[in-house]
Amino acid sequence: MGTFLFDKIIFGPVHSRRLGISLGINLLPSDRKVCTFNCIYCECGWTLPSAGRKLPTRANVKQMLEIKLQDMSQHNELPDVITFAGNGEPSVHPDFAGIVDDTVATRDRFAPKCRIAVLSNATMLSHANVAGALRKIDDCILKLDSAVAETVARLNKPTGRFSIDDTIEELAHFGRHAQIQTLFLRGTVDGMPVDNTTDAEIEAWIAALHRIRPGKVMLYSISRDTPADGLTKVSPDELNRIAARLHSCIPDTEIQAV
Ligand code: SF4
Repeated sequence: MGTFLFDKIIFGPVHSRRLGISLGINLLPSDRKVCTFNCIYCECGWTLPSAGRKLPTRANVKQMLEIKLQDMSQHNELPDVITFAGNGEPSVHPDFAGIVDDTVATRDRFAPKCRIAVLSNATMLSHANVAGALRKIDDCILKLDSAVAETVARLNKPTGRFSIDDTIEELAHFGRHAQIQTLFLRGTVDGMPVDNTTDAEIEAWIAALHRIRPGKVMLYSISRDTPADGLTKVSPDELNRIAARLHSCIPDTEIQAV
């Protein structure tokens, strides 16, 4: 059972396989994940009710980031990237757009060479203020684990109304600004099979990516404990085979199997 939670607003820096030295920003509570998905593989554990939980304020996030970057700058240890990640989906924070503006300004002031990234599940793209904020972020990493509604229901378990077809259309509006990340796995959950590596799955996923035409696609597998039992890691060889299949359909997109 994975229950790995970040206990600070600003955390790290950590070394990320995908991003380099990354300073994290957690806009969610320190004691509970808050998310619009309940992915069976989430390293933060299951999504539990979160009504009434306090989120860090915009002013608080700005102040903590300034203090940390100033300190890192004085020690010549600035990160490669500042990443919105942490205990759930960052874009559910009601001040997400303002916090992104503050973060861009703080980065420009203290660490102008540093990139800003976000790990988002793309469920808030229909909100104009969230979509606008995501466009200001250098590395906009958006989740698409499957293009098949039934699989999304089993794998990502949306906690509210969600349409994968609408999300694919919203991702298509982002085009090359979107960096899609997909976690591949197999297993059985609640007695039902879950497998986003079947031929039918890969075909639907490639068709979606052909429609989206993202700037980059990242394929990865489980690397930490998962809240659901009975999940199987997909091997690097298999990830590479899926990546090669994708590459033959969208050769102008950078593809990374990590
Ligand atoms: S979208 Fe991310 S934070 Fe939310 S449940 Fe899935 S893996 Fe966890």
